[in-house]
Amino acid sequence: MAGSGLIQVGVVGARGRMGQQVVQTITDAHTCELRAAVDQGDDLNLLNDCDVIVDFTTPEVVMATLEHCIAQGVHCVVGTTGFDEDRLAQLRTWLAAAPGVNVLVAPNFGIGAVLMMQFAQLAAPYFESVEIIELHHPDKVDAPSGTARRTAELIAHARDERGVGRSPDSTTQEIPGARGAQVADVRVHSVRARGLVAHQEVIFGGQGETLTIRHDSMDRSSFMPGVLLAVESIATHPGLTVGLDSFLS
Ligand code: NAD
Repeated sequence: MAGSGLIQVGVVGARGRMGQQVVQTITDAHTCELRAAVDQGDDLNLLNDCDVIVDFTTPEVVMATLEHCIAQGVHCVVGTTGFDEDRLAQLRTWLAAAPGVNVLVAPNFGIGAVLMMQFAQLAAPYFESVEIIELHHPDKVDAPSGTARRTAELIAHARDERGVGRSPDSTTQEIPGARGAQVADVRVHSVRARGLVAHQEVIFGGQGETLTIRHDSMDRSSFMPGVLLAVESIATHPGLTVGLDSFLS
């Protein structure tokens, strides 16, 4: 907090598409002060005096940054995608050795996207079939998106709890990829096209009806209220949190 009482924030990936927006958001926020803005090639020690870092980089580099910041006692708000169970387990191990340090890994900071995931989880046990279509700009390096992976996991968990089986599918002949990727028993289809930002549809099918839940991020600024909420609240959410849900009250 330093002497100013403002939250000292470091932005990692500061020259990237998301990082630039985060730098602007933190600079404009009355609650925060931009302490460091680092990008590829910069010294991670520049982050040591921050209260919180916000990371929007790449799946290849994010873990090294988190290991460094956790060891330095700095809270971490992570937007970078590509987190699987192994990575989350690694974070828990590092956090166990650093009491008082908190990390949020949020595959999607859009408030509407978080609600879309919650609505999908709610609907999941009531329909025989479910598939996800995620649509993004073509510069995105990972597929399926972190949001789609998380949505699939939440849906699968909700169905498991109520004893609902896999979606029916009679496909016996297939060009590889035609039926999408299987994530936690849910088929996920990834579209990449210029002009898109970040979009997702969850399609449920039951007897004689379908339900489609769709969310569209029109602009990267849609993620900023969620990022700011996370920066302002991370100190009161102990240990590792996955998903912005528990920050919304
Ligand atoms: P981008 O390629 O525009 O930006 C990434 C930045 O990271 C670049 O400036 C790059 O130079 C920098 N970088 C690379 N290696 C680095 C290192 N070792 N140290 C510091 N900086 C380094 O990408 P983007 O569109 O801003 O997306 C970044 C990440 O955020 C991706 O994983 C994307 O999927 C994710 N994302 C998450 C959300 C969300 O709501 N959680 C929303 C949009 C994007």
